[in-house]
Amino acid sequence: MTLHVVQFSGGIGSWAAAQRVAAEHGTDNLTLLFADTLVEDLDLYRFLQDATTQLDVPLTVVRDGRTPFEVFRDQRFLGNSRIAPCSYWLKQKPCRDWLNAHADPADTIVYVGIDHTEAHRVPGIERGWAPWKTRFPMCDPPHLTKEEMLAQTRALGIEPPRLYALGYRHNNCGGSCVRAGKKQWLHHLATFPERFAAAEHEEERRRAELGDVAILKERRNGVSYPLPLRELRRRAQAA
Ligand code: SF4
Repeated sequence: MTLHVVQFSGGIGSWAAAQRVAAEHGTDNLTLLFADTLVEDLDLYRFLQDATTQLDVPLTVVRDGRTPFEVFRDQRFLGNSRIAPCSYWLKQKPCRDWLNAHADPADTIVYVGIDHTEAHRVPGIERGWAPWKTRFPMCDPPHLTKEEMLAQTRALGIEPPRLYALGYRHNNCGGSCVRAGKKQWLHHLATFPERFAAAEHEEERRRAELGDVAILKERRNGVSYPLPLRELRRRAQAA
């Protein structure tokens, strides 16, 4: 029997993908695989609990045991929008280790919850998960917007993860994603100032060690410069 493994991140796309996989294949051979970065919003864990209860499939949790900033410390590198080693160490590698131990590539399909607006990522993700076969249920029609997926959770009596209602496009790493842009970090400063402060503190520690690096960049006169969170906050507060 083919094993169906959904990369179940706590995001709404992977939830909707799991719904489609369950509708098509049932839940007997369904695995909901969650890689815990240890810095997720607490409400993400509540959502995972509600979602797995509704599907009646236990959650399979893998973890590296470090947080993103602990990975940056160990790698002597500060993650940013272009290169985020945290994603490899905290998500891809633990999931791959689990697949190596539990899933025969000849009889397993891995499902990823990106939607049709992110279809350009498909070839890279396929290459990344080889030799396992990958499918992208939310790239298939009917194409749903994020809002429609959120409405589907409510229709099933499940409250969506609160970060969406708080204005975040993604429910990952508690909003402190190093791949997020300046706009989200400003939103993060206003919404969760203590999380912003924690990220700023960690960024400053890496800067003390590595020099003028930053999660964010800005362009001035056609030249790209690091934009530390401390400076972003200073400007926001001055304004
Ligand atoms: S969500 Fe962002 S910060 Fe978290 S592991 Fe992925 S890339 Fe890193």
